[in-house]
Amino acid sequence: MKEELQKKLYEKYTRIFEQRTLPMSQTCMCWGIETDSGWYDLIDTLCSQLDAIHKLTGIVTVAIQVKEKFGTLRFYTTSDSDEGELKIDQEDLKVWWGIADACIGEAEDQSAQTCEVCGEYGKLCSKGGWYQTLCKEHAKENGYNYGTKDSQEETSPTDSPAASSEASPEEGDAEGEEVESSSSAG
Ligand SMILES: [Zn+2]
Repeated sequence: MKEELQKKLYEKYTRIFEQRTLPMSQTCMCWGIETDSGWYDLIDTLCSQLDAIHKLTGIVTVAIQVKEKFGTLRFYTTSDSDEGELKIDQEDLKVWWGIADACIGEAEDQSAQTCEVCGEYGKLCSKGGWYQTLCKEHAKENGYNYGTKDSQEETSPTDSPAASSEASPEEGDAEGEEVESSSSAG
């Protein structure tokens, strides 16, 4: 991600990206946000959601690695909530962690439809063994096959002979109901 955009995220969400200054031996955040700039809005939206959860509940979600893998976003986190800071009951913690996870999952899903270069609508594209989510233009520009992961086009010449129409035979079970006689012991 472009330095200036990364800096913007770091300044906006200092707690989420608090590991950015830690050494390599302690965190993967030392590598920065390892995606292209097209996902800036995606990550910004996600962080604003995590930030809202923090304000509401006191739960801090801390990014430990943010990168692209197999063409989509990976946003790895850990939860850090000081007991004194928590505004919810312990038993509600799991619920809110689930909500934070859902937000992250949604952003990761969205990344599969968002060009990593420009942020426009895109598809998961392939080039050799490489995957990247790209719009049509950037797929072409970078030599990727647009949307090949979906494999919807590509007319394959497999003519299937007339569809065999088999009526599903219903096996009538004519077996009488076995009435297990009641063993009523008086
Ligand atoms: Zn693009």
